[in-house]
Amino acid sequence: MTIDYKIIFTERKSVNIIIDRNSKIIVRAPKRLTRDDVAKVVNSKKHWIYNKLSNSSKPITSPKEFVSGESLLYLGEHYKLRILDEQFSGLRFDNEFTISKSNKSKTKEIFKAWYLAQAKKKFLPIVDYYSDTLGVKYNRIYIKSMKASWGSCSPNKSITLNWKLVKAPLYVINYIIVHELAHLIELNHSEDFWNIVSVQVPNYKKAKKWLTQHGELLELEL
Ligand SMILES: [Zn+2]
Repeated sequence: MTIDYKIIFTERKSVNIIIDRNSKIIVRAPKRLTRDDVAKVVNSKKHWIYNKLSNSSKPITSPKEFVSGESLLYLGEHYKLRILDEQFSGLRFDNEFTISKSNKSKTKEIFKAWYLAQAKKKFLPIVDYYSDTLGVKYNRIYIKSMKASWGSCSPNKSITLNWKLVKAPLYVINYIIVHELAHLIELNHSEDFWNIVSVQVPNYKKAKKWLTQHGELLELEL
C-alpha cells in the first residue's frame, strides 16, 4: 500500500505529519529536504499513519522527531537541541540542549526525565511560597503526567501538577499553582475565587491566554 500525501515545504526544522479531518495526509517539511528524503520519513512513520487513519476523527500531529537544530520549550523559551558526536550521558542544558549521538534513540526518555526533575525543582518552592502567602495547608503534592489538565486539587487537599507546565513561562506556572491552592479556600470558580487568584497573580488572564494558545502541549508526549 502506498501512502498518498501532500508536501508543503516551509522554513521549519523538522518533518511534521498531519492527518486532517478528511483523512488527508499533509506533510510539512524543511526546504533543505528532497522529495525522496520526505518519502523516507513518511515511510518510517507508516505504522503510525495507518493506525491514525483507521481511527481518526480529528487532526493529530506526529510524534516528535529529534534532530539537531530543533527547538524545545523550557520556562516559556525555546532552546535549540544539538546532537553531539561526543559520548556523555543524559541531557546537558546551557542556553541550549545537548545530547550525545549515542543516546539519540533514548532522547524522549532523557528529555522527560529532565523535564520532570526541573518541574520538581521549580514547582515545590513556588507551592510553599504561595501556600504560606495564602495561609493554606495542602496534604501532598504530586508532579506527574496528566492527560487533560495542568493541575488539580483533590478533596483530600492534595495538589497535582502536570510536569509539562515546566515548559510554560514562570508567570503561568505561578498562576496554575495559585489556582490549585486557592481551591483549598474556595472550591468553585466563584467571584471570590478569582479575587484570591488575581491578588496573587495580577496578570492571571494573560496566563490563561498563554495556556489556551499552547493547550496542544497537553496532547504531546513531550
Ligand atoms: Zn479550578
